Amino acid sequence: MAQADNRADVVVVGGGLAGISAAIELAEAGLRVTLLEARPWLGGATCSFARRGLTIDNGQHAFIRGCEAYLDLLAKLGVLGSVAIQDRLYLPVLGAASEQALPSQLALSSQLALRRSGLPSPLHLASALAGYRQLTVAERVKAAAAALALPLTPHGRGGRESFGAWLARHGQNENARRTFWDVLSVAALGLPSAEADLGLAGVAMRTVLGGRENADIGIPLVPLSRLHASPAVALLTHLGCRILLGVRAAGCQLSHRGGYEIAVAPAPPGGAAAPVSSAARPRLIRAAALVLAVPAWEAATLAPAELEADAAAWARLQPSPVVSLHVLYASKVTSLPFAAVVDSPVRWVIDKTGPAGLHTGQYLAASVPAADKFVDLPSSRLRAELLPELERLLPAAADAEVDDLFTTRERRAFIRQVPGSARLRARQPGIRGLALAGAWTDTGWPDSMEGAVRSGLGAAWKVLHDVAGDSADVAGAAHEIAEPAIATSGVATSGVATSGVATSGVATSGVATSRAVTSLAPAR
Ligand SMILES: Cc1cc2nc3c(=O)[nH]c(=O)nc-3n(C[C@H](O)[C@H](O)[C@H](O)COP(=O)(O)OP(=O)(O)OC[C@H]3O[C@@H](n4cnc5c(N)ncnc54)[C@H](O)[C@@H]3O)c2cc1C
Repeated sequence: MAQADNRADVVVVGGGLAGISAAIELAEAGLRVTLLEARPWLGGATCSFARRGLTIDNGQHAFIRGCEAYLDLLAKLGVLGSVAIQDRLYLPVLGAASEQALPSQLALSSQLALRRSGLPSPLHLASALAGYRQLTVAERVKAAAAALALPLTPHGRGGRESFGAWLARHGQNENARRTFWDVLSVAALGLPSAEADLGLAGVAMRTVLGGRENADIGIPLVPLSRLHASPAVALLTHLGCRILLGVRAAGCQLSHRGGYEIAVAPAPPGGAAAPVSSAARPRLIRAAALVLAVPAWEAATLAPAELEADAAAWARLQPSPVVSLHVLYASKVTSLPFAAVVDSPVRWVIDKTGPAGLHTGQYLAASVPAADKFVDLPSSRLRAELLPELERLLPAAADAEVDDLFTTRERRAFIRQVPGSARLRARQPGIRGLALAGAWTDTGWPDSMEGAVRSGLGAAWKVLHDVAGDSADVAGAAHEIAEPAIATSGVATSGVATSGVATSGVATSGVATSRAVTSLAPAR
């Protein structure tokens, strides 16, 4: 019987961006880290799958230059060259007004867009608004005034006012809400302003206004599995972290011997085969410290009994789904790398041709956030409702042949960031050696990649603070009971990760410090 090795100062449960960030930080600090992930790959909500020779992301993932923690993580992973960031914010906005007023796509992309100037903050965005022709001149002036007033809004946990209600109180009419504020609100919070939490909208606006480059948009140039998962496996392995894939934590409790006991079980069937060796799986892991970096609802079931009351609050957070329509056209239908959309269930269109590895034609992914009305529809209905939207927004799409079309559904893409949700987000528990991570926790940021990374760093720092100067305790409590491998009948198996993830190989580099980023030149 093979024995799992006896190393776990800290167990990190959950291998999304939060868990990856926490594990890196803790391993860099010299702790012996075991990272436990239920799926056969790392990356969590940012993942990819293979289809007909292409690598498909589970949904579009964009960010802004103000996402400093996320960019630092990419630098650590050595993949900054695998994203493109605009030199200056340029966000084309497609939708009803553009269709009526501007028949040609060239005119549309050059006029109906948010484009920042080189002026210092906040004038950089004032000039962007000044050129935004979805709004009348009077609406632009009022929008600028509201944008400047918003950062002064107090951000209290448990605030009940929606962003939309606040906008109405600050002179924003229906057109401004639909064609300007909802573009920002959907991008930042995954919800239109009428439903979105005011405090979080304020955080987003403060970030955008906080520096003239902050709102410049970045997108991946490679599949998410190559941007996050493979390099994370390589770096964590390099740092000596043990990665167990395809196993899930089934329960966690404080041990009477000090530290934590984490019960481990095989993950349910599903997903691609795990790229792991068939080493023995532990059934119980003991560790001095524990980071729970799983979604809110899993955290609520996994948390030690001492956190029962808090966990009941986390469980009340509501999920918000995202549906994506993926269309492979036989010919190119747009030169825009991405665009926001107004007056449509489709809120974002992104060109995934290059990242997916497509060499002819064009692959567009159309994203429907807050997709409660769509998430349970059959694919045929989604096609019937959403494909005509792409043809309306991008006239060349109507004449292009469709080579392939499919949908993806993420039922719990985000927490629903409505008023009142902020007070349900988790704060760090006052229990020694226990930390919570996840984009859903109370990072002060919207549920996002940036929030996930920040939460992971915060959790790692709490653990390091708790165990600082107490290395004897850490070593003493860190041991593990190994059990024979649990039969998995051909499903994803657990073991020590030795290679990459489901759809890609291992990134070759370890730590890289270069901050050189590919520039995403505005389409003009
Ligand atoms: C379609 C889509 C589009 C998005 N678009 C954007 C975007 O454009 N920009 C942006 O910033 N953000 C976007 N997001 C949100 C962003 O991806 C998430 O906020 C972030 O990745 C969450 O990271 P996390 O580590 O907190 O959680 P997750 O990624 O959910 O990771 C949690 C991990 O825990 C694992 N796990 C759960 N239970 C257990 C258990 N019992 N044992 C072991 N492991 C367990 C899960 O398998 C998962 O891998 C999008 C999300 C989706 C789904």
